[in-house]
Amino acid sequence: MPLARLAVSLCVAVATSAALALGAGPPVKAAARPGHPPARAAARQAWIADGGEGVPASASMPAATPAQQNVTGRPPNELGRVLIMEYHRIWNPEAPWQRSPAGFRRDLERLYAAGFRSVPLRDVLANRIDLPPGTSPVVFTFDDSYVSQLWFAADGQPAADSAVGIMQRFAAEHPDFGLHGVFYITWNTLFGAPGAQSTDRLRYLVDHGFELGNHTLSHPDLSRGTAASVQKELGQEQAYVRQALGGYEMQTLALPFGNWPRDRSLARTGDGGDGAYRFEAILQVGSEPAPAPATAAYNPLVLPRVQAGEQLLSYWLAWFDQHPDERYVSDGDPACVAFPARLAGRLRPDAAQRWTLRSY
Ligand SMILES: [Zn+2]
Repeated sequence: MPLARLAVSLCVAVATSAALALGAGPPVKAAARPGHPPARAAARQAWIADGGEGVPASASMPAATPAQQNVTGRPPNELGRVLIMEYHRIWNPEAPWQRSPAGFRRDLERLYAAGFRSVPLRDVLANRIDLPPGTSPVVFTFDDSYVSQLWFAADGQPAADSAVGIMQRFAAEHPDFGLHGVFYITWNTLFGAPGAQSTDRLRYLVDHGFELGNHTLSHPDLSRGTAASVQKELGQEQAYVRQALGGYEMQTLALPFGNWPRDRSLARTGDGGDGAYRFEAILQVGSEPAPAPATAAYNPLVLPRVQAGEQLLSYWLAWFDQHPDERYVSDGDPACVAFPARLAGRLRPDAAQRWTLRSY
């Protein structure tokens, strides 16, 4: 039996016996997921119930069988690090804080070839990364709401050389890559215009499954701000977006320049302008892949990112090759945390209470 198939079977078996032994409900992770299990997980259950051999002639099955195959041959390690990429302008030429459209496209190709797949940040935060076995997650983030990230061509669609246009075309050509990203916006310069003039782009992003994050109204150095000004920069931006998008709540913050306010707690929660805010995660500027959510090293309030650029991407792809234990590799089952037994020391202390674990 291929390793990936064994992994899925064992995970389900462990979950069931643990629930029976404890007389408890389903694992927290499953319970927290409305509508769980989704179609793919249900298909897996059916596949397992079928003895793991052959494919039942059920209409819900076709997508599940290829998804069970380990596309890279890498064994699962859901205690490895997660790559969160940090982009700014997508424009020519290559420069600091600027990736060319061709360079960005090349990043997608390299990541895809190396077995990475795009996931939403919210799935990382919830520790429900839903990828095929053997693949690794990458989160794309875009700071500063530059016009080069999203503008519309004459046909009303994202321009082919915009960040969104490039990602959409790549996903159309590689449907298994995924199409996700977080846009950390600054309201006062929102895609090249004052915020109120650009809400169509915010609407477009949300309607197409992208996430929005807070990057302050005006991109100040928060370490120099007063408590009142910090809360206004964060809270007022939160309020504007809520108002523009019918209550949309930005869940995460990217710190301008990576600088914290003097009172660090004000980056997490506060109330300023017309709006209160409380963030689930705070993203840094740089400088390494992030610890996996099930590890003790994971801290969503200090999430590191990797700066976009040819050399840095090359560095980190080589680093993952040289340190395979550091690479997050999916087992194909978002309801289970699978990892080599030798890495169990990385688990956060309450991991067994929060998730279904499977070591091998
Ligand atoms: Zn910025």
